Amino acid sequence: MPKRLVEKLRSFMPGNGKKKARHYQRQEIPRDQHNVSRSMISEPAKKVLHRLNKSGYEAYLVGGGVRDIVLGGKPKDFDIATNATPEEVHDLFRNSRLIGRRFRIVHVVFGREVIEVTTFRGNALTSDDVPADDEHKTSEHGLLLRDNVYGNLEEDALRRDFTINALYYCIRDFTIIDFANGMQDLKNRQIRLIGDPETRYREDPVRMLRAVRFAAKLGFEIERETEAPIRDLAPLLGHIPSARLFDEVLKLFSAGYGEATYQLLQDYGLLTLLFPETVKAIDAGESDELIRQALRNTDARIAQGKSVTPYFLFAAMLWPALQAEWRHRQDNGDPVQPALHGAIGKVIGRQVQATSIPKRFSGPMKEIWELQIRLPRRQGKRAFATLTHPRFRAAYDFLLVREAAGEIEPGLGAWWTEFQKVDERGQEKMLSQLGSATAPGKRRRKRSPVKRPPQQ
Ligand code: ATP
Ligand code: MG
Repeated sequence: MPKRLVEKLRSFMPGNGKKKARHYQRQEIPRDQHNVSRSMISEPAKKVLHRLNKSGYEAYLVGGGVRDIVLGGKPKDFDIATNATPEEVHDLFRNSRLIGRRFRIVHVVFGREVIEVTTFRGNALTSDDVPADDEHKTSEHGLLLRDNVYGNLEEDALRRDFTINALYYCIRDFTIIDFANGMQDLKNRQIRLIGDPETRYREDPVRMLRAVRFAAKLGFEIERETEAPIRDLAPLLGHIPSARLFDEVLKLFSAGYGEATYQLLQDYGLLTLLFPETVKAIDAGESDELIRQALRNTDARIAQGKSVTPYFLFAAMLWPALQAEWRHRQDNGDPVQPALHGAIGKVIGRQVQATSIPKRFSGPMKEIWELQIRLPRRQGKRAFATLTHPRFRAAYDFLLVREAAGEIEPGLGAWWTEFQKVDERGQEKMLSQLGSATAPGKRRRKRSPVKRPPQQ
């Protein structure tokens, strides 16, 4: 039997394979021994559960929906697992659509709320199995390419990622079913993969990012055996399509715990797979204070219920790389503006090999960067032109972050804050007070070339 196959079998055989194998035993936690109540579950999620049950199918709330309620939090969304096939689910709900290739799932749509319904998946492999067929393929790296073999509840539980994500809430009798000791790990505040960690990361390297995301979000520790292989296996993320990594980056940094997540990604050697140029620049001495400051602000915004834009996030995450490249080009004699344009092209070109950046985000991201040169140049009509630029607000916010990060002297941000507040006469006055001393005249620049991004 091929080595990979043996490993995979072992990872699912309780007590029978490597010494790492754990015993998994079904436990049922009755309603009086847990805190999940129907009132915490959204109406749409309850509707889907009830209709599936009434139609004769098994259906459970699973994943973050159970985990976050047990922890006393509010779930971001509700996921449901059922023994109905995607087509059967689709037939039951007019407001649903079949999606996905790698995992075929059903989205049931209720206004802005989307309930994700997945059909129980089978074990990756069973005892005398070979990788079944096209529906259950793995690549040469052990990556699960498709996973559409259906199974029963227990099999579904054991192919989920972490023990704390494999708790099933049954709305018929209000019990929680726990196959992987997830309740215990919730109590101990541990992120633990189900099965053999290395095998599970090889099947889907994104699980490494998920481990970090949940650790940061929940303030949990990644259990020792689950964290041990991460550094070595991090390069496997290079096999993940760049579009999926883009989505994962957004999840990592827009869950409200971006700063903590950033630190963990660095600690586990994962950041370099997501932002290789940024890590290179930081390793070469570039400061990442702007990234930290931007993530701190983002976390605060999310806590206040405000939104964050992907282009702002990416503008910040790539800033150290841009700075390094921009300076390098100026050192080689390029004037400020062409150096910036060249640097932008290069940094984005390299980044999209790791994570894609959809055009609707890369455009505004470039504008934020380009406006950083225009913000200090306010003479004459320039300030008005900048103020009416569609990306002014984001560029101004970015400027404030640069100031807070200590990258430039404070002052310019306050000037713009004031300029937005006062009336037209006030604005004219502010401009006249600027005088000509700060005007970046062409001649002056020629005599002493600006080596760094222009300051005020
Ligand atoms: P949240 O929605 O709060 O980010 P979640 O745990 O619900 O967290 P989802 O991405 O919504 O995460 O996935 C729902 C569930 O599907 C997970 O809890 C887990 O059981 C399972 N799952 C998701 N992604 C994977 C994966 N890559 N490998 C194995 N199981 C997964
Ligand atoms: Mg979820």
